[in-house]
Amino acid sequence: MAAIRAGQLQQEVTLIEKNPILGKKLLLSGKGRCNLTNVCALDAFLARFSHHAQFLRDAFKKFFHQELINFFEKRGLRLKVERQLRVFPVTDKSNSVVAVLKKELLTNQVKILFKTAVKDIVLAGGRAKGLILSDGRFIAADKIILACGGVSYSFTGSTGEGINLARKLGHRIIPLRPGLVPLETRQKSVKALEGLTLKNIRLKFSDGQKQIISEIGELLFTGFGISGPLVLSLSGRVVDLLGADKKVHVEIDLKPALSREQLDARILRELKANAKKEIKNVLKSLLPQRLVGVFLEMAKIDPAKKAGQMNRAERESFVSLCKAWRLDITRPCAIEEAMITRGGVSLQDIDPRTMQSRLAEGLYFAGEMIDVDADTGGFNLQAAFSTGYLAGESAALN
Ligand SMILES: Cc1cc2nc3c(=O)[nH]c(=O)nc-3n(C[C@H](O)[C@H](O)[C@H](O)COP(=O)(O)OP(=O)(O)OC[C@H]3O[C@@H](n4cnc5c(N)ncnc54)[C@H](O)[C@@H]3O)c2cc1C
Repeated sequence: MAAIRAGQLQQEVTLIEKNPILGKKLLLSGKGRCNLTNVCALDAFLARFSHHAQFLRDAFKKFFHQELINFFEKRGLRLKVERQLRVFPVTDKSNSVVAVLKKELLTNQVKILFKTAVKDIVLAGGRAKGLILSDGRFIAADKIILACGGVSYSFTGSTGEGINLARKLGHRIIPLRPGLVPLETRQKSVKALEGLTLKNIRLKFSDGQKQIISEIGELLFTGFGISGPLVLSLSGRVVDLLGADKKVHVEIDLKPALSREQLDARILRELKANAKKEIKNVLKSLLPQRLVGVFLEMAKIDPAKKAGQMNRAERESFVSLCKAWRLDITRPCAIEEAMITRGGVSLQDIDPRTMQSRLAEGLYFAGEMIDVDADTGGFNLQAAFSTGYLAGESAALN
C-alpha cells in the first residue's frame, strides 16, 4: 500500500521483496479468506489495540476502513461484512486481495524486485541515501519505507530484518513478544481433549493479584494447552503477566449463565431422572463426552457408577470443575506460531503524522514492524494498510 500510494503520487518507486511472490502472509490471512478490515466505529476500533492506539489516529484519519473498502471496490473487488463487523472479499479468497494490490502497483509503474532482500540502509548526514541489496547492489533512494513485518510465521518472509535495520540506525526497539498466541498448560489432561471446542464459556486468568476476565465465547483445546478466540484475544495480556515471572493460572467456567447452586440443582435433577443409567452417560447432556470423562477421572468418580449413587461430595467436586476448572499456564507458544508480533520499532522514534523516523530524515516505517498490535477481526491489516498509505503519501509529498 505504501508503494502504491507513492506511485499514485507520481514518484519513481521500487518495491523490494525477498520472496518470489507478493503478500505471502496476506495470502494466509483470515484462514485464506483475508479479513482485511473491520467496520466498527473509530473509538471501538482503537479499543481493540493492545496499547498506544492513539498513535494511529492520523493514519486512520487519512485512510480508514471506508477508504480501504472504496479502494478495493473501485478496482472491482466486492467486499462483504460478516459477524462482528469483519470485512472479507466476496470471493472468500485472499489471493483476490493480493491480485488487486499487484495490479495497482503495475498501473502506477512501481518496479518490483523479487527474491531480493534489503541488507542495509545508507544514510548521509542523517538523511536517507539508499539501500544495499542482498546481491551487493546499491540503489540510491532519498525516501525509504521499511514495511518488513514482525517475526511470526517467519516462513512467509517476516523474519525481523526490518526491525534489526531500524535498531542498527539507533531506533529504540520494544522487546518482541508473541500476540494472538495459543497458551501452554502444565496439566497433561488437556492432551485427551485435543481438537475439542467449548462454546459459551468464560475464562478468568490470574497471577494471584491481577485478574483478566474474558467475555463469553469459545475455547479450543490443543495438544499442549488452550487456544480459540477468547484465548487468542487475551493472550497478549497473559504473556505480559507471565513475563513478570509470575505464576499464572486460568479458571474455566463452563456454565457462566448458572450459579453453582443452579448448576448443582440441574445436575441433581438429571441424576434423579436417570438414576439407573451410568453417570458418564447422564452427564454428557451437560458437557461434551470427552470432557465428562476427564472430569470424572479428576474427581475420582467411577464413570460406570449409577447416576442415583453419585453422592453429594462427588457432585460438589464435579460442579467445582464445571464452574472453575483450573489450569496452570506455563508459557505461550513460540513467537513463530503467534499470529502477530507485539513490540517492534518504538513509537517514540516515529512521527505519527507522517510515519517518518525521528532519527533519520527520509526513512519511514509501516505495518507490523512498529510497536502496535491488535486483536483479531481485521484490525491488524487495517493498521498495516493505513500506516502504509500514510508513509507512502508522506514520502511522496514531504
Ligand atoms: C496466519 C495469520 C493470519 C492472519 N490473519 C489476519 C486477518 O485475517 N486479518 C488481519 O487484520 N490480520 C491478520 N493477520 C496479521 C496480518 O497478516 C499482519 O499483521 C500483516 O500481514 C502485517 O503486514 P506487513 O506488511 O507489516 O508485514 P508482512 O505481511 O509480514 O510483510 C512483510 C514483507 O516484507 C518482506 N521482507 C521482510 N524483510 C525483508 C527484507 N530485508 N528485504 C525485502 N523484503 C523483506 C517479507 O518477505 C514480507 O513479504 C494474520 C497473521 C497470520 C500469521
